[in-house]
Amino acid sequence: RAPLPRPNRTRTMVVANQKGGVGKTTTTVNMGAALAQQGLRVLVIDLDPQGNASTALGIEHRRGTPSIYDAVIEERPLTEIVQPCAEIPDLYVAPATIDLAGAEIELVSLVARESRLRKAIAAYLDQVPADERFDFVLIDCPPSLGLLTLNALVAGEEMLIPIQAEYYALEGLGQLIETVDMVKAHLNPHLRISTILLTMYDGRTRLAAGVGDEVRSHFGDQVLKTVIPRSVRVSEAPSYAQTVMTYDPGSPGALSYWEAAREMVHKDVAPSNTADSESGET
Ligand code: ADP
Ligand code: MG
Repeated sequence: RAPLPRPNRTRTMVVANQKGGVGKTTTTVNMGAALAQQGLRVLVIDLDPQGNASTALGIEHRRGTPSIYDAVIEERPLTEIVQPCAEIPDLYVAPATIDLAGAEIELVSLVARESRLRKAIAAYLDQVPADERFDFVLIDCPPSLGLLTLNALVAGEEMLIPIQAEYYALEGLGQLIETVDMVKAHLNPHLRISTILLTMYDGRTRLAAGVGDEVRSHFGDQVLKTVIPRSVRVSEAPSYAQTVMTYDPGSPGALSYWEAAREMVHKDVAPSNTADSESGET
């Protein structure tokens, strides 16, 4: 298949949903891998103390490894933290160690506590040579709306919200959207919900179809047409320190993440759905 066209800027996408287990980490690592496999340069930032994204991408994240904690709390440059993913060229990772569990509390007393990640990413992207420019930065958020997720919302321009196709799928989304509106009003006017992805979709059930319809009637064309099926290969891959994109590239899960990545790149039109959008870089 043809490689994907490069966006004309770095698209920083926050993968968030304060519900746990909806597919944030799975989506971050597999979207990241799918984009990189199709010729784009991708930086994954693991912002969950669990470090599941780091694990799935085969990235060292034992305590003591330079990590996103050091960047956010100690202002250590990301150049000393980011590691290449051995399995997938053009994919880079800022790992999370368990230290990050304390960051939520430590951030409270630090200056500019909600914009520290933004600063770290901006400084890093600034020093990357032009011919190595990143096309995507994907930030994997923890399952809460605390200061770590807030840092991600301030750092990003777009949100990628995975929604699990199950009962109560929309529960909690109201709170997420309120948080996004608050961030837009006070901290980051550029933020927008650009992409919604239905995950763990079981096409055989009317429930999944019903949830799909409900999400689409709510969010319209922010919802990708591609859905991610529930597939055991997707859930097996992390235990081999892999994404499903390398673990079983022909499996339905891998093919749908491949397709979702293509759709996400191609449906990138200039942000026009926000009255206050500007063309300037951030
Ligand atoms: P989150 O990061 O939102 O907490 P995860 O990405 O860790 O969610 O997913 C939760 C669980 O569901 C994990 O065990 C993961 O392997 C599994 N999972 C995610 N997506 C799929 C899928 N498409 N098919 C089967 N299992 C999945
Ligand atoms: Mg996760």
